[in-house]
Amino acid sequence: MGTEASIGTRFLLYPQSPTTPGYEKPELVWISARQGSIQPGPQNDRMYVVNPTMPKKHYDYPYLPPFRGAKAAPVEPSPDGHFDHIDPNSRDFLGVHVFGSVARILDIWEGFIGHRINWHFAETYERLEIIPLIDWDNAQSGYGMLEFGYRPTGSGGRDLFALNFDVIAHEIGHSILFSEVGLPPVGVSPTPDLFAFYEGVSDLISLIGMLHFDTAMDRLLRRGSGNLMALNELNRVAELADERQIRIAGNSRKMGDVGFEVHDRSRPFTGAIFDALVQTYHDLAVDRGLVDLPPGSIADARDFDADLERTYARAFEADYDLKHFQLKAALGDARDIIAQGLADSWQRLNSETLTFADAGLAVCAALQAAGHGRVAEGLVECLEWRDIISPYDVHQLWQGRPRPVVWI
Ligand SMILES: [Zn+2]
Repeated sequence: MGTEASIGTRFLLYPQSPTTPGYEKPELVWISARQGSIQPGPQNDRMYVVNPTMPKKHYDYPYLPPFRGAKAAPVEPSPDGHFDHIDPNSRDFLGVHVFGSVARILDIWEGFIGHRINWHFAETYERLEIIPLIDWDNAQSGYGMLEFGYRPTGSGGRDLFALNFDVIAHEIGHSILFSEVGLPPVGVSPTPDLFAFYEGVSDLISLIGMLHFDTAMDRLLRRGSGNLMALNELNRVAELADERQIRIAGNSRKMGDVGFEVHDRSRPFTGAIFDALVQTYHDLAVDRGLVDLPPGSIADARDFDADLERTYARAFEADYDLKHFQLKAALGDARDIIAQGLADSWQRLNSETLTFADAGLAVCAALQAAGHGRVAEGLVECLEWRDIISPYDVHQLWQGRPRPVVWI
């Protein structure tokens, strides 16, 4: 093993589907598992990959894991225990990529949560079974399993979900939330917001995961010269957002614009948290003397104003090449503040009564407790702009206290 064993294990991961322009090459990442601790498969004490060599239907009750049919030989690590030697164009790479992506998401979110995430299905299944490819135009995460098909492309090809970090991260996001927030007891009906909340936060778990890749951070920032307001969906440039997570989170939807379908209903909350992330990035960039921005909040800027857009663009573009790495550090810090607030909010939530207002205010309370009062105050504005909380809720929040002080 040598002295490097504690550094971790190398994998190659695609930050976005390799069919996305600019993401054709995978990035080398380190997984926290000690070098040599991941066995052929790959597999470890929490998950294992199975490559069926016979046609397999997707799991559907009462057909459940484990897979008992014929399977390919497990994929071997390199002699020194890593998995970055597998050819990204090979069949073997699919399972390795899913395994590495799941491990990466767990590494990132366990860091924010501060403890090991135990599978919500741990009483039934010891480990997660990963099936990287079946003949199916869908993907699913269920009790004890994660399995992937593909999306047929217009040109007759296949966009494999096993190579799509966003899909994998979103599915693991659900698992994390089932473990950390949980489900109402049997017999208690879920609130109208509960499953929409899970969809939105799973998208945010994926978004924040994506922002841990250098390739993604560099492309996002360089494309708009550091100006994330260019990703506002009301801005024409946003149509150019290549990252699916940004296309979803950069929305301008308010609660009055959405119905009860869970994905649709999740958009205002996801958008509010994303706006708070952008606002925090702006504030840090201004504090650090990197850009000179007009006063005003991101919520104001959402009400599209072409002059304001140009002002933002000019402020970021000035000497951008000299500021790239410092802006990247500011975005990384903003990402971590928001992610920590989200993770800390989960223990404050009750799955039996959850509403988006509760969920949003729990993030504000967690931010405030962590010493990020200004960020919390910005998020309150974003939640109000989305009609997730009402002026009455805000009044209640400030009641009896001078407004700016409460969040500092
Ligand atoms: Zn989902």
